[in-house]
Amino acid sequence: MPISCPTCGKDDSIQKVSAIVGGSTVAMRTAGVGLGPEGDVGIGIGAGTLSSSLAQSLSLPRKPDSSVGVGPMVVGATFALAPMFLILWLLSLVNAYLRTTDTVTIVAGIAAIVSMVVGLLLWHARYMPAKRRGVASSQARWDARFKTWSRLYYCKRDDIVFDPGTGATSPPNAMSSLL
Ligand SMILES: [Zn+2]
Repeated sequence: MPISCPTCGKDDSIQKVSAIVGGSTVAMRTAGVGLGPEGDVGIGIGAGTLSSSLAQSLSLPRKPDSSVGVGPMVVGATFALAPMFLILWLLSLVNAYLRTTDTVTIVAGIAAIVSMVVGLLLWHARYMPAKRRGVASSQARWDARFKTWSRLYYCKRDDIVFDPGTGATSPPNAMSSLL
């Protein structure tokens, strides 16, 4: 069955959205920082943004990163290290004031480090499963959107994007409503 535009009913000025975006890619890279769907900050590098604004509005957002990343670990370590250094600093003050033996300081220092490591591991064990689920579901959402996006067409005459599967249409800058 030939595909035609639901608005004008013709197929002479339609083009696949993926072809418009793919054909406009040039050797140009830009970097940007944005907020992800989970509220996490991401840094993205995009190719082909020198292209037309049409191709830009028809582009699909970059696939979410599949790795869980070291970010949570770094944050956790920072939160765990800050109190540890505070404890060690207070200990050194107490030690200087009371002139206690070094043994007290060493034992307390080891206790601080052990509790930090244990706390970090517990925090990590609690946090990681949720993070993995979040990554998996955002990947699944992206895959579904990509599948829909791949079948979208653009009609130049009407300046609309349409889904030949459902007959739904939208202006190019609101394409995400079709996904
Ligand atoms: Zn049309």
